[in-house]
Amino acid sequence: MTVKQFQAESKRLLDLMVNSIYTHKEIFLRELISNASDAIDKIYYKALTDEALNFNKEDYFIKVEVDKLARLLKISDTGIGMTREELEENLGVIAKSGSFAFKKETELKEGFDIIGQFGVGFYSAFMVSDVVTVTSRALGSDEAYKWESKGADGYTIESCSKENVGTEIVLKIKENTADENYDEFLEEYRLKSIIKKYSDFIRYPIKMELIKS
Ligand code: ADP
Ligand code: MG
Repeated sequence: MTVKQFQAESKRLLDLMVNSIYTHKEIFLRELISNASDAIDKIYYKALTDEALNFNKEDYFIKVEVDKLARLLKISDTGIGMTREELEENLGVIAKSGSFAFKKETELKEGFDIIGQFGVGFYSAFMVSDVVTVTSRALGSDEAYKWESKGADGYTIESCSKENVGTEIVLKIKENTADENYDEFLEEYRLKSIIKKYSDFIRYPIKMELIKS
């Protein structure tokens, strides 16, 4: 297993996310679903030019699974997946296309509402979770890797097994505090309404499943 630190810039963003008092924490789901949809798009566009690759629409979907007792929320996709290098490059550094790259720290502190306006990306998962685990297998590879992070301390990466190409993101949802409710992100009706609100336009089916542990 490899243990790594985040770059300074990513660490700053993570700290902001973890300690965020932002009221629209729910947008983490929009960000993860939009990444899942982008990953499926990538396979779709590859299939357009690569004759060896068939794109059967019914094989491509996004799944949201909830295990309320274990406090786990899983978002998985059958998209293009990530290699070990891609996991490190894409999740270990601040999103290149993310709007945060263009904002100064002061702007972040004062105008935190930019979260609502722009995509903040993968790191928003840390607003609602203590631990984020990403398991991914890239198209064309039979190896899979598990990336895991508790936030600012960095991340670990190790090889693992995964049956299908794609990505699985498991969030360990935070415990409620005196001022903050996180239980809501384990409630089916609440998740459904967040999906309806922000991800209604997603072109792939979003399936929901309840898991009893
Ligand atoms: P952005 O989507 O703006 O690029 P994110 O922080 O949301 O920024 O994601 C960073 C990168 O991580 C993405 O560009 C993509 O390369 C990779 N990524 C994130 N989630 C997935 C996923 N489910 N499948 C494949 N790649 C992903
Ligand atoms: Mg994104």
